[in-house]
Formats: sequence, C-alpha cells, structure tokens
Amino acid sequence: SELIEEDDTPVRWFRVNTIKAKKDDVIEKYFSELEEVTSVDQIELGTIYHDIYVPNLFGVHPKEKITTSIPYQKGQIIIQDRASCFPAYILNPTKNDKIIDACAAPGNKTTHLAAHVQNCPNSINAFERDIRRSKILKTMIDKAGASASVTVNVGDFTQASPSDFEDVTGLVVDPSCSGSGIFGRAYDEENPQEAYSEERLEKLSSFQFSIVKHALSFKNAKKVVYSTCSIHAQENERVVVDLLNDKKVQSLGWRVANRSRVLPNWPRRGFVEEFNTFANPEQIAGGCVRALPKVDGGIGFFAVLFERDSDLSESQS
Ligand code: SAM
Repeated sequence: SELIEEDDTPVRWFRVNTIKAKKDDVIEKYFSELEEVTSVDQIELGTIYHDIYVPNLFGVHPKEKITTSIPYQKGQIIIQDRASCFPAYILNPTKNDKIIDACAAPGNKTTHLAAHVQNCPNSINAFERDIRRSKILKTMIDKAGASASVTVNVGDFTQASPSDFEDVTGLVVDPSCSGSGIFGRAYDEENPQEAYSEERLEKLSSFQFSIVKHALSFKNAKKVVYSTCSIHAQENERVVVDLLNDKKVQSLGWRVANRSRVLPNWPRRGFVEEFNTFANPEQIAGGCVRALPKVDGGIGFFAVLFERDSDLSESQS
C-alpha cells in the first residue's frame, strides 16, 4: 500500500540511496538549482528541505520533476514518504546484523534497510506472500542496487521457522493495514463504513498481532519494529497492548523501547490513554511514533520499537 504516488501529497519526499551515491554528490550535481529551506512549511516550487529526523532524506514541492530526473532513473534517489522511512531508521541495523523484513513489497523499507547494512552480502531476508508484488519487490531491489544484501522469499512470513533464521538480530514488520493514513487512496469514499468498519479493523488487528508475535519469537532478535500506515488505534497502540499482555511475549523479555531510542525529537508520540492499564503509560507511548496525514507533511503512520536485552533473549530458547 505504499507506492506513495498521491497527487495531493503536501511534500514529495525522496531519500538518497547511499548504496549507489553519496548524499552531497547527488544534491550538488542535480539539485543545486533549488534553494534550501529550513522547515517543511517553507517548501514551494524551486526549494529543497533537508530533513532533520531521517538522514539522507529531502523534501521538495510535489510538482518538482523528480521521477524524470537522472538520479531517480539511476536508482540514486528513491521516492519514499518521510514517515515510511522511520522503521528502517528506528531499527538502525549495521552490517553486523541479520535482518528480516517480514512484509516487504514494494520494497521501500527493504532497500532502506539495505542501505543501513551498507549492502553487506546476505544481511536481509525479505518476505512477501503476494507473487505479483514480489516481482515489484525484486525490481525495486535491483534498481536500488541492493541485490547482494537481500534475499527475497516469496511466501507467508508466519510460516517461516525461527530455527531457520537463528542469526537474525532484528525484524521490521510492516503488514497490510487499513491504509487509513494514506489520503485519497485506501479510503473507499463510496463505502466509508466498510473501509473502516469495526469488523474490518478487528480482523486486521488480529492478523497484525499474530504476525508481530511471530516476529518476536526469533531467538536472537533484539529489536522488532512494527509499523502501519493506519491512523486507527485498533491497528496500532491496541496491537501493542495485546502483545505486551501476551504471556509468551512477556516470557521472552520484550518491552517497548524508551523514547530515547525511537526518534526522540519527533514530537508526535503514541496515544497515552491507550496504555492506561499499565503502570507507565507515558513511557510506553513515548516508545511509539505517530504521523498525521498532511499535517505532518506526508502520510499518516505509526511505528513502535520492541526490544530486549541480549542476555535475556539468549537465555530464552
Ligand atoms: N514494507 C513495504 C514497503 O515499505 O514498501 C510495504 C508493505 S505493505 C504495507 C504490506 C505487504 O505485506 C503487502 O505486500 C502484503 O502482500 C504483504 N504481506 C501481508 N501478509 C503477509 C505475510 N503473512 N507474509 C508475507 N507478506 C505478507
């Protein structure tokens, strides 16, 4: 659900693909005509904004010709909404990590993860169960020059056995969601009730719970990022609540990370009131980030980081 080509996006975000190019080289060579502005609100035609939250990320006016530019065609820049860049940055893997991207197509986060691990061979296993979308994923990985680091597994991630991936240290789980944060698309205007019916949200959230729970069962994983492009608490904080209340998840030592580990300066956090049944609702909400559609310069989004101590996970086999 994230090809991010909405016509009415307030900002066109792109990140420099550091597998193929250096940030300063690309900007100097192809975008030096644009005047640099220092806040998202100042973006207009002819300007460029260098994001303060996600490294190598830039915002321009949506009418700026990006898709016809040489660096875009060469895969040196990748169009990706700012909030959609949060998961890979929050996981922040290095080339010593082994990563699973559980729900990978079309591959924005996979290729972003590949840039983090400096395209180190065989670092990332990407899962995608939809055959058609897995082809788009492969094309995107090729275009980004990330084929060395990424292995594509066409299949259901929940069927992947953790014992086959014992070296995995981190996972990104970005499953199908209602898409309620994506303006003008997933929302079914003819049938709004259906698009966001309680029944549909419940179905989605129980699927989201199981797929994240599976990710939390990988023996040597220390970090798991869960994200959606939904604005609904049912698919976001409430999934986190159910996971934190789950006996198995508790026994494995998982907790929501502190705000200091999750884009600490990003102002919009999880909904505190959703965590009222816990002793530390503020702290848990602080480990979650949210983005509002348009108001925050792009799509509506949610991300949370689960983590645990190395000693705990190792004793938990
Ligand atoms: N992470 C992607 C990106 O940033 O480009 C977007 C992922 S999209 C929100 C969710 C994807 O997960 C869809 O392509 C869907 O087919 C896939 N998916 C859903 N359930 C899955 C499962 N159980 N195993 C593997 N892939 C799954």
